[in-house]
Amino acid sequence: MTDGAANDDSTTQSTATGIGGTGASAGRRLEGTTAVITGASSGIGEATARALAARGASVVAIARRADRLDALVKEIAADGGSALALAADVTDADRLHEAIETAAGAFGHDRIDILVNNAGIMLLGPAATASLEDWRHMVDLNLTALLTATHAALPHLLRAAESGPRQVADLVNVSSIAGRVARLGSNVYNATKFGVGAFSESLRQEFASRHLRVSLIEPGAVDTELRDHLRPEIRQAQTQRFAGVKVLEAQDIADAIEYMVTRPRHVAINELMVRPTAQEG
Ligand code: NDP
Repeated sequence: MTDGAANDDSTTQSTATGIGGTGASAGRRLEGTTAVITGASSGIGEATARALAARGASVVAIARRADRLDALVKEIAADGGSALALAADVTDADRLHEAIETAAGAFGHDRIDILVNNAGIMLLGPAATASLEDWRHMVDLNLTALLTATHAALPHLLRAAESGPRQVADLVNVSSIAGRVARLGSNVYNATKFGVGAFSESLRQEFASRHLRVSLIEPGAVDTELRDHLRPEIRQAQTQRFAGVKVLEAQDIADAIEYMVTRPRHVAINELMVRPTAQEG
């Protein structure tokens, strides 16, 4: 749906006024805020976009698949929310920077109240048979793109913390249990997610007094498209590993992120690990 200020053919904006959808019952604590979510075309990012929009945030959804983003934006608008789709490959630093700038100005606020750095890929397998291209891909997406988005968004987040409606801003980085526990075969995925954890904690300390909350979420196994990119034998091993475990839904992690970003100004959920109940490691 194109309704309002479409900036180019990869941009779709759709807004609707009035309080409706699930947000009315949940309480619209994010009214007047801009929330940017990378990797919003599927899985955790898509569910988080819906959840924050239902709480009243104007959502900027970033990913490569424009058709999926457009469908999400339409759905949010139909539920009485406000959203903008920005089709972008976040490993393209210039395009990502441009998308963050567009997002900051999209709803007339000139600030970003919430950034959820969620886009990621998990290419598991033994190091001995790994492709260097896969390793670079994980570093480029899980780590470098997250750093680029953060760097571009920082001035806008700090402005939101100073003068936004909540007087606080949120940077939520999506890590993983793999950011806390290294496993055979996770090697570079572990390295990227451990890196996200270290970066987040350092930023948390730097910006605590300025009311920019830096939060880390570390999901266990979630039923998304993440495992679709694995080599068949590795995917098979993953299926065996989680046989008998009821894994999480994307909505379970969206609920946790929604909780993190809707706390009162003086409360920061710095780190949250969420596993399926039956997941051991
Ligand atoms: P999905 O594969 O469903 O979602 C990944 C998202 O990232 C998609 O929206 C995809 O969109 C986007 N993306 C991938 N590459 C790019 C790119 N180059 N530029 C822009 N967007 C990109 O997986 P999840 O929802 O599971 O993954 C989300 C995050 O959660 C990841 O960081 C992952 O590491 C983490 N995580 C997931 C767990 C799980 O078990 N599922 C467990 C722990 C952490 P598109 O293809 O349209 O660009």
